[in-house]
Amino acid sequence: MDRENSVIIKVHELDNVAVVVSSGGLKSGDRLTDGILVVSDVPHGHKIALAGIGANTAIVRYGEVIGYAAEDIRRGSWVKESLVRLPAAPLLEELPVVARVAPAFEALTGFTFEGFRNADGSVGTKNVLGITTSVQCVAGVTDYVVRRIREELLPRFLNVDDVVALNHSYGCGVAIDAPAAVIPIRTLQNITRNPNFGGEVMVIGLGCEKLVPERLVPERCSDCGGLCSPVLTLQDAEFHGFNDMVAAIMSTAEMHLVRLNKRRRETCSASDLVVGLQCGGSDALSGLTANPAVGYAADLIVRAGGSVMFSEVTEVRDAIHLLTPRVIDETVGRALLSEMSWYDRYLERGEVDRSANPTPGNKEGGLANVVEKALGSIAKSGSSPIVDVLGPGERIRRKGLTFAATPASDFICGTLQLASGMNVQVFTTGRGTPYGLAMTPVIKVSTNSILGKRWHDLIDFDAGQIASGIKTIPEAGHEIFSLILDVASGRRQVCSDRLGLYNDLVLFNPAPIT
Ligand code: CA
Repeated sequence: MDRENSVIIKVHELDNVAVVVSSGGLKSGDRLTDGILVVSDVPHGHKIALAGIGANTAIVRYGEVIGYAAEDIRRGSWVKESLVRLPAAPLLEELPVVARVAPAFEALTGFTFEGFRNADGSVGTKNVLGITTSVQCVAGVTDYVVRRIREELLPRFLNVDDVVALNHSYGCGVAIDAPAAVIPIRTLQNITRNPNFGGEVMVIGLGCEKLVPERLVPERCSDCGGLCSPVLTLQDAEFHGFNDMVAAIMSTAEMHLVRLNKRRRETCSASDLVVGLQCGGSDALSGLTANPAVGYAADLIVRAGGSVMFSEVTEVRDAIHLLTPRVIDETVGRALLSEMSWYDRYLERGEVDRSANPTPGNKEGGLANVVEKALGSIAKSGSSPIVDVLGPGERIRRKGLTFAATPASDFICGTLQLASGMNVQVFTTGRGTPYGLAMTPVIKVSTNSILGKRWHDLIDFDAGQIASGIKTIPEAGHEIFSLILDVASGRRQVCSDRLGLYNDLVLFNPAPIT
């Protein structure tokens, strides 16, 4: 990476554009150290042409074609979004999936964190009572009960961090037997198994919904044969009015709290971490600072034996040719391509294409199109081999780097990664988002220091320091790795937890609504 006095950053020797990182942008008439005369104002985070680029010729960033020039672009001018024509996506049928020999990374040993070990072998980073629901009809009741539990019960159970209602829009008025309904249903089932709930999730149902509440807790308690069934349905004939329902839910919750309160943190290997990676509100610096630093940290987690998931199909689709050579075998390669083609068809059915991403804010941040966004986005995955591919909402199966297929939508991706079993999430942002999850800590990493400073109490780590030359990518990566261990241990609280800023669960339901 060439850093020219922290004014512009060029990533690859073949690049004919660079990203402006000086905080005030560049002004027409400025002269860069290699003699390039700036011929138009270029905002911070946007691209400047390092050479004249003729109409219809390739615009190259990261050594890859991000588009074709819509007209002649002068050396030293702003390569704005309207000048970059979207190239075709890589053809999936033509991609080879023969695995390359994985580089032998040196294993890291001795890294630990303080977590809550569960009977199924998973490890929690929080101790949370989860109250899940089989249908949206009951959401008002669960919200009410959660308030009462927080005020009346939690003060007596000091080892329990919180109680959360797992409300969602599913359960009734849905085509529950449609093939694609498997996604929202397994998401709800697998969220109850997230390690932070310690196996103590209770279920509130209504009684007449399509999604039978018992389906959310498929395994009956082996200790009592089901007598302690955590399912309560509001239409149960025993309940005479609202207060009866609330009393029953509170007493069930107390039983779970007694058990959760016995959980204690103990020293666990870093190999017990399941780290979800995501980005939201990206900008042109995402692929230069935060995402490569998080990718470096992801490689350290993998080397320490842990699990890392990266996701967001629409933001890897255009860089898929860089991922297929990283799979460990042909089966994983085929699974990766199959998730891409499933999503291509899903978008086609909705009569949209990949140009629906990026957002207006991404474009203002300097990202011309989804190709440029994808090339920056996959930097989060580091350089480890891809050992497995999960369908949306499936549980993680292997240690190492997994591609967990999800939409790029922040809250939907977060919901699906919770279902896959993540116990920490790392989230990079350039434009800024207060995003957070109540169930698992979210470490937010800014791509630029302008945001990092302005949002000093919402951003946990400023990777913008890489652009200003204060830190290298490996230095920032090691710091993020340590931060993950501290946050997972409860030694350090993330901003969203300190402020109690939490997004709703949002299910991915590609099946029809009735
Ligand atoms: Ca996202």
